[in-house]
Amino acid sequence: MTSRKHVSKIHLYNTLTRKKEDFSPISTNEVRMYTCGPTVYNYPHIGNYRAYIFADVLKRVLVYNNFKVDHIMNLTDVDDKTIRESQKEKKGLKEFTEFYTQEFLKDVKALHILNPTKFTKATDYIDKMVEIIKKLLSNGLAYKSEDGSVYFSIKKFKNYGKLAQIELENQKENASGRIQTDEYDKDNVQDFALWKAWDEKDGDVFWKTDLGKGRPGWHIECSAMSMANLGEEIDIHTGGVDNIFPHHENEIAQSEGATGKQFVRYWMHNEWVLVDQKKMAKSFNNFYTLRDLIDKGIDPLAYRFWLLMANYRTRVNFVWEAIEAAQTALKRLYSLFLGLGGQTGSVHQEYQNKFTEYLNDDLNTPRALSLLWDVIKDENMSDADKKATILDFDKVFGLGFAELKAESIPENIKLLVEEREQARLDKDFKKSDKLREKINSLGYEIKDTPEGQKVAKL
Ligand SMILES: [Zn+2]
Repeated sequence: MTSRKHVSKIHLYNTLTRKKEDFSPISTNEVRMYTCGPTVYNYPHIGNYRAYIFADVLKRVLVYNNFKVDHIMNLTDVDDKTIRESQKEKKGLKEFTEFYTQEFLKDVKALHILNPTKFTKATDYIDKMVEIIKKLLSNGLAYKSEDGSVYFSIKKFKNYGKLAQIELENQKENASGRIQTDEYDKDNVQDFALWKAWDEKDGDVFWKTDLGKGRPGWHIECSAMSMANLGEEIDIHTGGVDNIFPHHENEIAQSEGATGKQFVRYWMHNEWVLVDQKKMAKSFNNFYTLRDLIDKGIDPLAYRFWLLMANYRTRVNFVWEAIEAAQTALKRLYSLFLGLGGQTGSVHQEYQNKFTEYLNDDLNTPRALSLLWDVIKDENMSDADKKATILDFDKVFGLGFAELKAESIPENIKLLVEEREQARLDKDFKKSDKLREKINSLGYEIKDTPEGQKVAKL
């Protein structure tokens, strides 16, 4: 890997402090990062994918800065939703979740989201979850209820609420109770379930452990998978803003309650994708899947490109016209790139420095993208250097420039190009201009370069 001289400091927005902070990982050259992955109970909608595209860009930026990134993404394959939906379809939990896992992996590939170091399935980490819960029971932060479930006692953990910035004193009336479901809102802060004792609704989904017959709560799953794979203290934990409460708040309580160490240094969250200015959500029935986009002729990468045009911390409003415009712009970039020819030169240092500077400023992808256009338009750069620079940028963008193949130019166009070549040699510029017009009218563009004529689709 080449080391860069002018690599600027990385600044990341930390939800924990509500500030942009200098990024410095626990180990000098290695970053340990955890991403809350999907609950595999149906097709994720494209709003969900914003979280994984954001995490992917973050990881790529770290790698671009020469960090080694140890990245874990979980697959929630047991929780309230997977159990409920598998029963509706009369399928075993494993068979049911495996189907949606495979569908998710296909989408990940189509969106050019790099695989994490490891995808972890919650059901493979039941022992680790039990171990953490036993610790919490023994140090008094958790207790067993009458039915054998185990709850986390939020009042016993002095930092409870630090991530979501909840003042427990103002929550007195609600904070007295317990909540069994995995998802609830800030007005409903209560002791939450770490272990759910088996009841009839769970059917054949249970584990027999030291805690009795039952299954884990959703929140303990991520604490266990993160600790088992990355250690008790990690650098970055990502998710959507919806994860801040209760999921990540509860992860902090469980993990720090069990180890006494700071679980995560930088908590990072992406904003929503809206539809008609309303949050895209399964519960509002206003969502689109990646399949809906593909059915309308939208390349998944055009969706990725559209998201890169905004900072991950701003809300974006999904409208078909905007996605179509993004696709048109991306296709134009592809065609301009292909028009640069077959030679690859060297990466332009100044552009690279700017590119790094923008991205290291809390992933300013909109500014970084505008550089791509600047490179293409730069009249002082050779095509070969432009090509090298764009390929270098694409290590972060992931828009697939390296895999592009020049479309074959139809024979009739080739003949016109040859004819034009002759006209130019004969210095018959009138004829050459006429031929250019004709080529344009047939949907192709011609460029005169020191290496000769170059043809590309308009
Ligand atoms: Zn999680």
